[in-house]
Amino acid sequence: MQSFFHQCIKSLSLWSPRRVVQILFCLIVVYIGLEFYLFISPMEMGIMPDISRPPGVEAFLPIGALVSLKHFIFTGTINRVHPSGLIIFLIACMTAMIVKKGFCSWICPFGLLSEYLAKLHGLMFKNNLHLPSWLDYILRSIKYLLAGFFIWSIFFKMPIGSIEQFIQSPYNRFADVKMLHFFTQVSQTALIVIFALLALSIFIKYFWCRYLCPYGAVLGIISFMSLGKIRRDPEHCTECGKCEQHCPGLINIRQKKKIQSSECTACLTCVQKCPEKKAIGFFLGSGKMKMGHVSVAVVLILLFLVGIFMAKLSGNWQNNTSKAAYLRYVLQSNMFWNGQGPIDPDKREKMIQIMKNIQAQKAKSMFPPD
Ligand code: SF4
Ligand code: SF4
Repeated sequence: MQSFFHQCIKSLSLWSPRRVVQILFCLIVVYIGLEFYLFISPMEMGIMPDISRPPGVEAFLPIGALVSLKHFIFTGTINRVHPSGLIIFLIACMTAMIVKKGFCSWICPFGLLSEYLAKLHGLMFKNNLHLPSWLDYILRSIKYLLAGFFIWSIFFKMPIGSIEQFIQSPYNRFADVKMLHFFTQVSQTALIVIFALLALSIFIKYFWCRYLCPYGAVLGIISFMSLGKIRRDPEHCTECGKCEQHCPGLINIRQKKKIQSSECTACLTCVQKCPEKKAIGFFLGSGKMKMGHVSVAVVLILLFLVGIFMAKLSGNWQNNTSKAAYLRYVLQSNMFWNGQGPIDPDKREKMIQIMKNIQAQKAKSMFPPD
């Protein structure tokens, strides 16, 4: 029992540079989520919050980011409804052009969760379970089909007029509130899907990342242009296979000199596990400049810091929806529906009263008595 406990603690491997970066970004995401919750929750009672809305919350709206990208390409402007969604998406694309799908294994909280679920798999099954390669191949195409569907629908089916309409629509403007309600008023169906995905990710390592995540699929395609790549030197490689044994992307490293695969997440596990000093490494360009864990971490953090700083400087970070508009939307949506079904009539009555009070106050401030 004690050794199982030690094994669990050891498998958390908290102190590698990659894990530190992953945990740091995960804490930032949790902090932003909590702050957004504290921004919206008083509104449910008709109270205007003292805090402002955290802009990074738009990282959870990737479809909105794709719509914003088309809008940006056609108009040359970043829309002010959810500007940080597009900024975060563009930064993620930039990372894929330098350090492959490093976003997935260094930044994304779902990547971190998948890694821990994969470790749980290792603790539960002595011999790793692998799907037959034909099935793995078919399943891997799902994420590309999903990404292709979104890209086709947005870039080829939606005319620019509809893009403009969608961006300004209440559906898109308050998509962040809907996303919060997805977690705070989680429906039974959503719970079943979440648990099914968690269970599948324990039985089949990296199930979500490898087969379903369309964000990862887009980054994987961009990563073919990545400046950085894993390179193996056959002169120093003893073909021991330790790199392949531990590669989360299940890449046949020994068959290649240069890893082009869209499954490579620049996690550098292969480099770490290789017993030969000069056999394998992550190199920029033609292979002269080697990058270790610390350099990859610095590149990723710098890209995020510089990107966000420039967005703030150019006024493309915080959105232009007022707190009053959020309050109206939250009250209106609470009048008719909560996560489980239609709202009870007493609560609706209370909401209507709060709305009337807000409108009366607004009218008073616009037309003060003589
Ligand atoms: S772990 Fe190193 S030495 Fe062994 S096969 Fe991989 S690259 Fe070659
Ligand atoms: S172990 Fe190496 S080849 Fe496999 S995903 Fe990580 S960096 Fe890429």
